[in-house]
Amino acid sequence: MGSCVAFNCTNRQSKKIPGVTFHSFPKDETRRVSWINAVRRKNWVPSSASRLCSDHFPEHMMDRTSLACVRLREGAVPSIFKFPPHLQKVF
Ligand SMILES: [Zn+2]
Repeated sequence: MGSCVAFNCTNRQSKKIPGVTFHSFPKDETRRVSWINAVRRKNWVPSSASRLCSDHFPEHMMDRTSLACVRLREGAVPSIFKFPPHLQKVF
């Protein structure tokens, strides 16, 4: 547990990388599906331990008003990924 589920991302919570935060998948079904689609893993569903790191979210979707706890803004969807070539087609 504790590593980012995105392709080609080696960030994990135990590395404690400055500025990198980890976010669990939303409970709201619509947002959850949009995150799953964004991750583009085949036949994959996130578990309660699945996390995406902040590297995959545009800066304007981050809420850094609290230094102790960086949150995602309402409606944030991950959009920054380094996909392997076979996944780079535009949907
Ligand atoms: Zn990541």
